[in-house]
Amino acid sequence: MGAVFGRPIPAAIGIDEVKAAIGRELPRVGMPAEAVIEQLAEAIEPGLMASQSGRFFGWVMGGTYPVALAADWLVSAWDQNAGMRDATPGVIAAEELAGEWLLQLLGLPGDADVGFVTGATSANFVGLAAARQHVLEQAGWDVNQDGLSGAPRIRLIAGAERHGAIDLAARYLGLGAATLVPVDRHGRISIAGLARALSEGSGPAIVCLQAGNIHSGAFDDFAAASALCRAAGAWLHIDGAFGLWAGAAPGLRHLTAGYELADSWATDAHKTLNVPYDCGVAIVARPTAMHTAFGVHASYLLTPEAGADPFEKVPEMSRRARGVPLLATLRWLGRDGVEALVAGLAENAATLAAELSELPGVSILNNVVFTQVCLVMADDTATLAVGARLHEQGLVLASPSRWHDRAVLRFSVSNWATDAGEVRATVDAVRAALPPD
Ligand SMILES: *Cc1c(COP(=O)(O)O)cnc(C)c1O
Repeated sequence: MGAVFGRPIPAAIGIDEVKAAIGRELPRVGMPAEAVIEQLAEAIEPGLMASQSGRFFGWVMGGTYPVALAADWLVSAWDQNAGMRDATPGVIAAEELAGEWLLQLLGLPGDADVGFVTGATSANFVGLAAARQHVLEQAGWDVNQDGLSGAPRIRLIAGAERHGAIDLAARYLGLGAATLVPVDRHGRISIAGLARALSEGSGPAIVCLQAGNIHSGAFDDFAAASALCRAAGAWLHIDGAFGLWAGAAPGLRHLTAGYELADSWATDAHKTLNVPYDCGVAIVARPTAMHTAFGVHASYLLTPEAGADPFEKVPEMSRRARGVPLLATLRWLGRDGVEALVAGLAENAATLAAELSELPGVSILNNVVFTQVCLVMADDTATLAVGARLHEQGLVLASPSRWHDRAVLRFSVSNWATDAGEVRATVDAVRAALPPD
């Protein structure tokens, strides 16, 4: 860890250099295992970014808790196929418990079903696949049997600042482009606009809301939206890749008010909870729709008493037991620890924003309600220059992005290793990256 925290955060070398260091040709003769691992470590490490650092704020990523990493190693060493309940009861039990604990922690319906996927992109896909199944069934159409050709058109409705993962899921599912509803200056869907969009058509509808806008951190108004969805018979899905975790912290829970009324949710454990990659979670309040969409049997009129097999909840059959690191992290933190983690990330974001905004020429573009902070300078050129100097210094990694038609530097406070000292060091680094006056 010390080595990671001391090194520059961006990668020092590029793809071609790493390939050259590994060697471009596969030799005829193999190499001893230890030597392979040593060579990989040496060749690849300079091409890594230090995402474990408390000054890493790139994209929305988070780091890794040691306990989660250790559990992930167990999963690899056990090499269990987590697809079937009867075959590998050890890891299935751990994943089912992780799912139950997560529902309790977030205050989501206890009879919802949970599927473990690679990330929130897949989790959104699972939610929308269950949604497609359900709304078409309500319209008298069996999509498994009859496909989409000739099916009633599904109206997919989302906020203008939805994450691209929603568009991907819609594409995979043949739903076409979403009807986009305008958002307010925080990126929250307009409730009047949603009401209008729902009233403009008829037939099956799916509404996608967001818990955590990647630029502002803002949350849609779930209570108001869910009432509209219920009245219109629309399925309500929430993309909460990083923001769903606000529901685990009493001081932030107001942001998620009403989210429990949705039909499906997508989140990641590899972002806010600081579990290693490959840990997304799909939650569906109507398990039959999920099992009908993903089970290999055409229909689940009778849900098996013992519970569905994991492969009937997600697109994969064979997969690693990726829910185990989630269980380990929840067990290690306890409810209090999860609360402290999530509240701490938001507090650090608020402090970072407050201190950055004191620097000459710096403004914060968003209302910092959760973990996201968008820094702007007087104009785009100045903002980009600060970003470039920060990157050169290598002490802090923030993501250059565009929001409100402006260049912004986005700090996503998602890493457990960010503490008050790292916040101070970050502000110092940004000060040093400002243009000389
Ligand atoms: C990160 C993110 C996603 C995609 O999640 P992956 O884990 O990268 O697949 C979707 N929605 C939002 C809001 C995100 O922040």
